[in-house]
Amino acid sequence: MKRILNYLNPIIHLGERHHSIFFPLLATFLIWGILESIIVYVTKNPLSVGAYAIYLSIVLVVYFSFRTGIRGGLLTTALTIGYFVYIMYTRNFSGDQLRAGIQTTIILGLIFCLTSLIIGWLKEKIDVLIDQEADEKRRLQAIIQQLPVGVIITDRKGKIVQGNRHVDTILGRKMREGLIVGQKTISAKHKNKQVSPAEWPLAQAFNTGKPVIGKEITIENSDGRKKHLQVSASLIHNKRGEVIAAASITNDITDQKEMEERKDDFVNMASHELKTPLTSMKLYLDALHNKLKKSEDKTTLKILLNVKNQTQRLQELVNDLLDVSRLQTGKLNFNKEEFRIDTLVSETIDSLREMSKNQELKYSGKTPIKVYGDKFRIYQVITNLITNAIKYSPEGTDILIKVKKVEGKVIVSVQDSGIGIVKEQHQKIFNRLYQVTDPEVKTFPGLGMGLYISKEIVRRHKGRIWVESPILVEKSADGSKKGRGSIFYFSLPLVK
Ligand code: ADP
Repeated sequence: MKRILNYLNPIIHLGERHHSIFFPLLATFLIWGILESIIVYVTKNPLSVGAYAIYLSIVLVVYFSFRTGIRGGLLTTALTIGYFVYIMYTRNFSGDQLRAGIQTTIILGLIFCLTSLIIGWLKEKIDVLIDQEADEKRRLQAIIQQLPVGVIITDRKGKIVQGNRHVDTILGRKMREGLIVGQKTISAKHKNKQVSPAEWPLAQAFNTGKPVIGKEITIENSDGRKKHLQVSASLIHNKRGEVIAAASITNDITDQKEMEERKDDFVNMASHELKTPLTSMKLYLDALHNKLKKSEDKTTLKILLNVKNQTQRLQELVNDLLDVSRLQTGKLNFNKEEFRIDTLVSETIDSLREMSKNQELKYSGKTPIKVYGDKFRIYQVITNLITNAIKYSPEGTDILIKVKKVEGKVIVSVQDSGIGIVKEQHQKIFNRLYQVTDPEVKTFPGLGMGLYISKEIVRRHKGRIWVESPILVEKSADGSKKGRGSIFYFSLPLVK
């Protein structure tokens, strides 16, 4: 039955570019043969089937033009005209009847030719388009197969329609086509928490309509070894904005992760090893300083003070390195307690006054405000923001520090009128080891760890840290505008 339907449905044959002449020839001969039998043996009246023969020929011409193109249509037209001539000849048409028969045959012949040309031409155009699309699809499939990352493509409803070889290798199993995303999935973890089927990036992209970029997921190999993956997914829309498909890209970042872990282990070990001798050095230097304090040898005392300052700086760097490594390994612990943040800020300012380069540290915010957190770590954040303000602004300027209560939280701000930070850097400066490199601005010493540590400390206290800059825009001598000054803010929830 299906085969018969296949023969009868011309649409199914769109895209097939072999235009057979044999089939229309055979079928038209057969049909006209059957028609002749009906005329002669069944109706006994050869003229009564004239209109029926015309309708049937229209159907035949349209069908074969659609099925086998212009050639099929023209061939059927020729056979039909031949059949009409045969009828006029065998039925002994004469006089008016013959004239009418010839006219009808000519008019129908022209109409049939035109129909064959138009429908046949359309069919051939559609064939070319379908062919081009099939070529495009094959090319895309070949590219997807060759990509060095895992690729999964779904239809608009989330049914997997294609997965390349690489995704099978990465996931360690065959990605079966026909699976629906978000229904069943491999056991995996994200930030140490089990990933549910709906949390895989493809399912997430379908649920939220937004792309998921670089979600890190850990799975376990069949041999029990951890595999780190970076998965991105996004929906694909047509011109009208409707979802037509979705795609996900999976990258195996296990080697990179293991390398990072080894590097973090090394930094952790090295900073631990450096910490002990540095502490002893600092103690010896303090003892020496006490001894030489009253001596007349001012040069030696100056050298000693310099060595002490550099040792102190080295100690701070090692402590920052240790903090970064603790943050990376999730080992930064907090001793939380209730304390007055206004007092802590004012005490921190007092301890930092000595290091400012003639900058005035101005504090406003005398109302008592209590927060719950690690006092030392919050002190570290305030110190970092104020030392940065001192470091990145010129001598003789003011640094304003404010503490104020706003809707269930406290906001601490540190404002300077220094070099400022362009908008594109506002997020990046809080990244690990990130420093702004502006060729026009002189470089300041540092490793880009302070703001990263501060951000992590504030985040782990359920707070937020951000920057506004520049806060002043100045016109230079050449007429160009330049921004200056920054305000760093951090917020913490109040004690309830
Ligand atoms: P660093 O040790 O380099 O100061 P941070 O993490 O504290 O590291 O700061 C990261 C970068 O942010 C700095 O290199 C600097 O470019 C920029 N930055 C931080 N504070 C300020 C500020 N008050 N004014 C201008 N730029 C700043």
